[in-house]
Amino acid sequence: METQKKNSPLAVGTEDKGAPPTGGAKGKEFRLEDISRPQGQWAHVDNRDLMPMPAPLDHPEAEPEWRPLSERARETYECALDDTLVLSIPKPKSKEEERELVEKFLHGLRKLFSKEDNWTFLRPLTLSMEHCANCQTCSEACHIFEASGRNPIYRPTCRSEILRRLYHKYIKPGGQFLAKWRHGDVELNWPALARLAELSYRCNLCRRCAQTCPIGVDNGLIARELRKLFSQELGIHTKELHDRGSVLQLKVGSSTGMNPLVVKDNIDFIDEDMTEKTGIKIETPWDKAGADVLLIHNAGEIMAWPENPGAFAVILQAAGVSWTLSSEAVAYDGINYGLFYDDVMLAKVVVKHAQAAKKLGVKKIVIGECGHAHKALTVIADRVLTGDLNIPRESAMTLLREIVLSDRLRFDPSRNDFPVTLHDPCNLVRLMGVVEPQREIVRKLCPKFREMTPHGVDNYCCGGGSGFAIHSAHNFEDWRFKISGRKKLQQILNAFADCPGPEIKKYVCAPCSNCKGQIRDILNYYELWEKWGILYGGLVELIVNAMADVKPGFIEWEWR
Ligand code: SF4
Ligand code: SF4
Repeated sequence: METQKKNSPLAVGTEDKGAPPTGGAKGKEFRLEDISRPQGQWAHVDNRDLMPMPAPLDHPEAEPEWRPLSERARETYECALDDTLVLSIPKPKSKEEERELVEKFLHGLRKLFSKEDNWTFLRPLTLSMEHCANCQTCSEACHIFEASGRNPIYRPTCRSEILRRLYHKYIKPGGQFLAKWRHGDVELNWPALARLAELSYRCNLCRRCAQTCPIGVDNGLIARELRKLFSQELGIHTKELHDRGSVLQLKVGSSTGMNPLVVKDNIDFIDEDMTEKTGIKIETPWDKAGADVLLIHNAGEIMAWPENPGAFAVILQAAGVSWTLSSEAVAYDGINYGLFYDDVMLAKVVVKHAQAAKKLGVKKIVIGECGHAHKALTVIADRVLTGDLNIPRESAMTLLREIVLSDRLRFDPSRNDFPVTLHDPCNLVRLMGVVEPQREIVRKLCPKFREMTPHGVDNYCCGGGSGFAIHSAHNFEDWRFKISGRKKLQQILNAFADCPGPEIKKYVCAPCSNCKGQIRDILNYYELWEKWGILYGGLVELIVNAMADVKPGFIEWEWR
């Protein structure tokens, strides 16, 4: 049984042979204290728990089976939270190593609550620690909690309450003596930290919960700050966000791996393709000094959906906008994964973006169809970019709205005469308030446009938010599609309930690269192109598809 002193700050996991090998976290048996349990999986979800879905997924056979974690993964990595893994944390080799990790966590915890080390987010974080009425309004707003069948470890308050107990115990004066009576206790040991690290990656950081909290507690921020602590102090982060994300982007120029020569080659190829498709000679300008607009795409678009940067070029050229791309490393890729896990990485990338704009002497930066790039380079970067690096930044949505609603281009909306619904990327819509521009465009150009319910700032995350869309190791995709993406898929199916079946082709417009990837993946997982003819794409593709002066048929109705 437990051999460490319960309230010792450095208590580590023990060989508790009496603990059950696995344990559901649902129902009356759920206790927050069990996060410190030395052994056993904390929570489990199976298909019978999941939120019911509408047609054509309203029968059990439509739900794929969960793929179990491999034996090798179970032997090698810490996997005591639930049925999946994002972080792949190697199991410590000794109690001493566990103890060191706990010490590093405590060091990072103190930094998280110090003005010098966390000036960016200290105030909202501290307020979120000090106040919670435990009303659970936030839980009712969280798509992950709802879709999982209300599994208590996925409540927004679960990870927050654990951190809150540690905050009161280790950060507040006198916490070692009184906190456990006033605020509840959690034993700080390695099993608790391994579970808490994984749990910080069971949140899309969509902040729908924060919007509904009557006293402004931000459970999304708490999850994000936990990720930061684990990354900066314990070196625990995902390869996708860190090694193959921010680090690769700063080293090579883009997290896609494209260096400046390769990206120029790819855009040349896209220009040729666009010229052929539209019947208009397209030439993307590079490094044009003094241009009005420096456009920064999510470089993933160039690789995965070249028609998106291609459509931007068609629109901006036809509308006579003075614009350019930059071939400066990092400045042709708006991706900034630091937003999801690390302030330092975030700052390094936004500074590169601003320096490239300054060097070219452009009037403003316009951010392409990427929600997290919007939030990183506008709202958050405002705290980092000072002086002459604080160059005006604008969403592509507002520039596109201005073009489409002016008389600069001729449109034939009958070319978009198919059912269209619009996904609201959380970072762009709820977190920045860019709600109407994209709607004004689709209302003008898409006669069969219908909203999802709810939408706008009350939208639900696609389930790929906070970088999940690029995570597919182990069996994480099952979790990402069945749980985090479930509410969005329910919304999409409901929006198209009046036109079922594969015969009528339908379009989900997702003006964000990460959301688009997640929506592609969920549609594919449930075979909804085959079953219901649902395709996905961006906003600029719909605009070009309706341009009267380009060849008809820009949108190709085939799965990709
Ligand atoms: S809605 Fe706010 S006050 Fe209520 S439980 Fe959630 S975080 Fe606490
Ligand atoms: S930020 Fe979004 S995913 Fe995370 S707990 Fe809140 S509502 Fe749930």
